[in-house]
Amino acid sequence: MACGSRSTSIRSNGRPGLDKLAFVSEEDKAKRATAGINDEGAPEGRDHDEPRIDPEIAARRQAALSFVRRLGDPVLKSRAAEVDRFDDSLRKQAARMGGLMVDALGVGLAAPQLGISQRMFVYRLGRDAPLAAVVNPEIEWSSGEQETLEEGCLSVPGVVVDVDRPLHVRVRAQDERGDERLIEASGLEARVIQHELDHLDGVLMLDRASREERKRAMRELRDAERERGREEAA
Ligand code: ZN
Repeated sequence: MACGSRSTSIRSNGRPGLDKLAFVSEEDKAKRATAGINDEGAPEGRDHDEPRIDPEIAARRQAALSFVRRLGDPVLKSRAAEVDRFDDSLRKQAARMGGLMVDALGVGLAAPQLGISQRMFVYRLGRDAPLAAVVNPEIEWSSGEQETLEEGCLSVPGVVVDVDRPLHVRVRAQDERGDERLIEASGLEARVIQHELDHLDGVLMLDRASREERKRAMRELRDAERERGREEAA
């Protein structure tokens, strides 16, 4: 997830201290690093000009994205199957997903996004954070308290939408070795987990956005497509 998110926009929760949550993707960090602007000084909002991304990082990202299924692919609308074999091939798959996610500059990637109908996703919240593989997750509890944040998705590149989600979740899952895990997450981690878990149920961030947000996102996608068509024709 989070391929295009850049600004923090918490509206529903007025709690001081929590509204400083930085929801900045690896991509933004790479762009900012290469563009020489820091988090505070970066222009925010949807309309600013994209800073240049390092060509080598961009090429790696493009290569990784070529494996990621896009909006319109039926696998993204299907419920993925439970994982029942925790073998070497599953662990290899988890490692491959992690590699592609890092190369794609995402913070999360679910198996269905690679066309694999399995209830597994990976996520990593920062360059130095450990890479986590989450298998057969179930949300055991989520907070009544919600927040609104912009989300991006590697399967819907170039688009961000505001999505309301619970601020805290408790998730029962397994890791890639089949060991039980109980994840108690808040803020960005809770959001990434919920976004990726949605992928396992065939739900996209667009399905969670308001009608107006969805309409705007679809318009932006169409415009981007037309733009690409014009560039190819030129
Ligand atoms: Zn996604």
